Amino acid sequence: MTKKGSLFVVGIGPGEYEAMTLKAVRTLESCEVIVGYTVYVELIERHFPGRRFCTTPMRQETMRCRLAFEEAGLGQRVAVICSGDAGVYGMAGLVLELSREYPNVNVEIVPGVTAAMSGAALLGAPLMHDFAVISLSDLLTPWEKIEKRLRSAADADFVICLYNPASRKRADYLAKACEILLEYKSPDTVCGVVKCVGREGEERRIMRLGRLGAYEADMFTTVFIGSSQTAKIQESEGNGNGWPWMVTPRGYQI
Ligand code: SAH
Repeated sequence: MTKKGSLFVVGIGPGEYEAMTLKAVRTLESCEVIVGYTVYVELIERHFPGRRFCTTPMRQETMRCRLAFEEAGLGQRVAVICSGDAGVYGMAGLVLELSREYPNVNVEIVPGVTAAMSGAALLGAPLMHDFAVISLSDLLTPWEKIEKRLRSAADADFVICLYNPASRKRADYLAKACEILLEYKSPDTVCGVVKCVGREGEERRIMRLGRLGAYEADMFTTVFIGSSQTAKIQESEGNGNGWPWMVTPRGYQI
């Protein structure tokens, strides 16, 4: 059977057009229909005139993917967009699970720059060594499992990158996570937070683990907790930005 339509699952990166990969841009330019969560569609809409945009609210992920398959089934080129990378807490997995029900649609995944990477670059180089990525969202994962992963990653001295550190309903989750981490790590551990990378309101801060629990994270925040080796490199006259960097040494002799 020749497949009729094409469905692309595209990671659009942190938010700014310049941080999209060229492949993501070309793919979206080649599509007739672009489907996504309202906030992400608003971020890219003006760069892709003439495309038909379909927005669906948050928490309507399955509906969003089915809508995209149905549009593609009509013989069109359709994109589902995700922030960052589509395969990191994005929609790529769900699309592939559903793809069995839509044998006439070809699926392709187009990677993007995930928040761990765009946030790390803003803070310096916190992910230079082994790191673990953990989402604090317990919508689809029981909190006991999240807590176990926090403990294991802290115990193994990974740098830890936290996605979904808070939402309106989960305002105290970052504080809860910090309490657990402090059982294993020094309160002096260097940490970094980034908010709205590549979007309006972009923010970056470096602080100690002892202070991190009181930080007001929101759903556009990504948190970095250093390993025992991570350091804050003080601003020097030369670095131009006037801000410190968060750096996990790779181990080179200098
Ligand atoms: N697929 C996305 C992650 C979606 S989960 C990616 O690969 O980046 C949503 C979480 O991602 C947010 O709670 C936040 O922790 C992080 N995030 C996504 N975009 C961000 C941005 N522009 N700035 C900071 N954090 C971001």
